[in-house]
Amino acid sequence: MSLRYTDSSVGSDDFDDIIDDDTVVNEKKDKENNSGKANTQENENNDQNILQEDEVCHDENFVVEENFILVSFPLQGKTGKQSIINIDLKMAVIALSSILTAVKAGVAIIGAGKIAVLPFLIAAITYFHYDQYDPENRNPDQKILDPSYDFIIIGAGSAGSVLANRLSEIEGWKVLLMEAGGQETDITDVPIMSLYLHKSKLDWGYKTEAQDTACQAMIDKRCSWTRGKVLGGSSVLNTMLYIRGNKRDFNRWADYGNEGWSYEDVLPYFKKSQDQRNPYLARDKRHHATGGYQTVQDNPYNTPLGVAFLEAGQEMGYDIRDINGEKQTGFALYQFTMRRGARCSTAKAFLRPIRLRKNLHISMYTHVTKVLIDPDTRRAYGVEYIKNGQKQTVLAKKEVILSAGAINTPHLLMLSGIGPQSHLEEKGIQVIHDSPGVGQNLQDHIASVVTFLIDYPISLVINRLVNINTALRYAIKEDGPLTSSIGLETVGFIPTKYANRSDDWPDMEFMLTSTTTPADGGTQVKKAHGLTDEFYKEVYESINYKDTFGIFAMMLRPKSRGEIKLRSKNPLEYPLLYHNYLTHPHDVNVLREGTKAAIAFGQTEAMKRFGARLHNVPVPNCKHLPLFTDEYWDCYIGQYTLSIYHYSCTAKMGPVSDPWAVVDPQLRVYGVSGLRVIDASIMPFVTNGNINAPVIMIGEKGADLIKYYWFNPSTRSRRKREMYLKFNARLQQGHNNCSVT
Ligand SMILES: Cc1cc2nc3c(=O)[nH]c(=O)nc-3n(C[C@H](O)[C@H](O)[C@H](O)COP(=O)(O)OP(=O)(O)OC[C@H]3O[C@@H](n4cnc5c(N)ncnc54)[C@H](O)[C@@H]3O)c2cc1C
Repeated sequence: MSLRYTDSSVGSDDFDDIIDDDTVVNEKKDKENNSGKANTQENENNDQNILQEDEVCHDENFVVEENFILVSFPLQGKTGKQSIINIDLKMAVIALSSILTAVKAGVAIIGAGKIAVLPFLIAAITYFHYDQYDPENRNPDQKILDPSYDFIIIGAGSAGSVLANRLSEIEGWKVLLMEAGGQETDITDVPIMSLYLHKSKLDWGYKTEAQDTACQAMIDKRCSWTRGKVLGGSSVLNTMLYIRGNKRDFNRWADYGNEGWSYEDVLPYFKKSQDQRNPYLARDKRHHATGGYQTVQDNPYNTPLGVAFLEAGQEMGYDIRDINGEKQTGFALYQFTMRRGARCSTAKAFLRPIRLRKNLHISMYTHVTKVLIDPDTRRAYGVEYIKNGQKQTVLAKKEVILSAGAINTPHLLMLSGIGPQSHLEEKGIQVIHDSPGVGQNLQDHIASVVTFLIDYPISLVINRLVNINTALRYAIKEDGPLTSSIGLETVGFIPTKYANRSDDWPDMEFMLTSTTTPADGGTQVKKAHGLTDEFYKEVYESINYKDTFGIFAMMLRPKSRGEIKLRSKNPLEYPLLYHNYLTHPHDVNVLREGTKAAIAFGQTEAMKRFGARLHNVPVPNCKHLPLFTDEYWDCYIGQYTLSIYHYSCTAKMGPVSDPWAVVDPQLRVYGVSGLRVIDASIMPFVTNGNINAPVIMIGEKGADLIKYYWFNPSTRSRRKREMYLKFNARLQQGHNNCSVT
């Protein structure tokens, strides 16, 4: 069995041949393999779907070494058993076909030439990960949908995946999960590769409108707003940092009239989904749990910088602590949504284990264009979508749930007639409900980027860390530098002078990383962040591939608010995204002070041991200002302004007395019945940290709210009474569009 191919010898036809062989082999295997029979065929179809959609790469030089897959050697397999691999011919054929499929999918998604070792990496991963034998195989795509379902969930991201799992626990409920993207791939599993997914086919590829306050170093002054378009949504592209936020965040939500959302209320929902793999953390049973669907683990690999970051934090006077525990202020090694060193997306965590449930259909490559709402009864009764190039509809007997994320959810609400009346009318959309808060109140976390040079070869430099050894170490031993989430090792939560120190509600998060923008020589990081050639050349080119560490100084509680508006009523046209970063002076102050604190951090003894020195090339647009003055830093933070991709709060939850609230505390859309929003959009204020864990919590709690509602007929009639009273209250306030359901 041998395989060797290069770009010069393989054209797209050859790839088609490979796919055909692949399918045949897998079909044979399918007949022999009793378990998961129904799904394998579907999976193959899915893979083919991906392959047909993706472009074939003709211009890359890659070679899969002869006899590579026949190598026999001792290994620590995924099962954890020490074994000698002896592959018989059939297994080898299956492995080969899987490798080819994965290589092609990987190449089509990110381009093999980006990293020369990519084919080795994919081959090794695929060989040791066989999907076919994985008990948690990928979910099948439902090709033909039923005419109606009890629940329709739009978007299979962090929240949507959780919901689909929890709602389909009820056998009598038929659930449809609709997702615009397709399957994850072997590449999406590899933590070090996450930046390669930006601007790939798995990313919606949003860009903000050009504005003067931030992202001035980006092409056309537009920030890149990466968003997952794949089963698992943004949890497939994210850096997997597991941060729950601060108690005060949720207590503030409750204080603003959102009953049931205080810290004590939501803590059980964080724990419900958690499988904490660190036994020391798991001992704290008040804050952690084991046995849930979502694996949370420490990174198996850290550079010496990871521990040094902790020491530097201590030197600055902070404790080392579990930042998901009793207190938040302090330093810690990150906890990750990883499983055995690979990404554990919400698709992997919540959808794969239930792939055989008959009452759950998942429809991929399905772009929802509108929620169907009866204008007379104002009840959501289905959705309109495009699949296989055809516009179709599907009906919901109980509820439609929007989990399309903080950009697409308000977009879909507006397309469906729920939003600011004058804006909808201006775009020619029939207004079902005037909801001025839709698309408003947009919050995100931004960071300034600070880089330090060091003297020792210990940081993650891309051309040093991706090689056949690290690929095998990742695939076989589940550790090594490829399990590093782009160098993010340590986190620090600290207060600037604008936060109350005694409050344990820090306003700055240091994301400390052992790799930086120039560590890949100005290729993928620059592209992912959308930096201009001029900026990169002037600031970073001189330190390409040098040993460095970086600090993303992330401002936690922004006061600036962005907005999302319709470009047109065409559902396929991207909406207008206005970040409005740094338009509030408070945000400029906090980010400037955070940047200065980051520079102080790099000058601690713990970091100086490595020869740490600030990379202080003046940034192009700020050169005219005296270096290192507040004026200079105020300019600096507006240049390389990095979104940490935490867009949220665009369909916020609030009491009926809040005219800007889009959903009530049970996440039901005001003014329309049978419709909820359950995703990052519903946050009234963004949480104090990275937001994936809170979004998963929102999914868990949202599912329980739905179950409670439908299993308690009395709640439904009580709700009618409540809504009637609230309707009257709104009438008195002059908001007369809240319908009674
Ligand atoms: C690059 C990146 C890095 C990040 N890093 C971290 C991190 O390390 N830690 C952390 O806590 N958070 C991180 N985040 C943020 C976090 O992952 C997201 O906030 C979270 O995943 C959002 O969940 P969601 O369910 O609201 O939306 P998403 O997960 O984005 O899900 C929305 C889903 O809906 C689908 N969809 C949208 N519109 C339609 C439509 N019209 N029809 C059908 N389907 C549709 C999308 O394709 C997507 O799958 C990161 C995010 C990104 C993008």
